[in-house]
Amino acid sequence: MTGTPRIRVLFDEETIARRNEELAQEIARSKPENLLVVAVLKGSFMFAADLIRALHRAGLEPQVEFVHLSSYLDGTVSTGQVAILRDVESDVRGRDVLLVDDILESGRTVTFAKDLLMARGAKRVMTAVLLEKPGKRAVSIDADFVGFTCPDVFVVGYGMDVAHSYRQLPFVGVVDHLDRNPDLFDRPAEAQASR
Ligand code: 5GP
Ligand code: MG
Ligand code: MG
Repeated sequence: MTGTPRIRVLFDEETIARRNEELAQEIARSKPENLLVVAVLKGSFMFAADLIRALHRAGLEPQVEFVHLSSYLDGTVSTGQVAILRDVESDVRGRDVLLVDDILESGRTVTFAKDLLMARGAKRVMTAVLLEKPGKRAVSIDADFVGFTCPDVFVVGYGMDVAHSYRQLPFVGVVDHLDRNPDLFDRPAEAQASR
């Protein structure tokens, strides 16, 4: 690809900011106790950072943790296996956990993380995702808190990448030409591991 690809804005900064405040209010209404936010790296880092500050404004005092997960791909197709690249440090026993991820697609990543935290003795694991792609679930799971329903296109920005790029964008967008065929980008193994 030559030149700078154009990015079509799907969810702009203001829309995301407004929705984050609403999500934080919804989360506060669930009355979490001793709340631990666990953000799934890398894609959710920007959403998590904004959501955590919105949670503060909504009157919550969460602690914050990170887990870095990778979906193993066979070529460009998910094999359904998830690996832990970096684990949470805190003991989750008896705690209300809010798992935060960027996109709920097949549902494998969120299911894996939720099962892991429950197996470690969390009292309750709620899930918040910025985006949900309907009709793509391989595992039956719904997020408790969803920012937006996302069309079935490959999105970037607001923390999300393709081949390590575009995470810095303050909005969620679609890269021209990539929306119909993400496989046009030849993703190296490392990039696949950070999905
Ligand atoms: P799943 O729900 O299939 O286990 O995994 C969803 C993960 O795949 C997300 O956390 C995200 O990292 C990645 N993913 C799914 N759809 C997209 C997309 O449209 N754009 C980007 N950048 N990543 C995606
Ligand atoms: Mg990725
Ligand atoms: Mg991810």
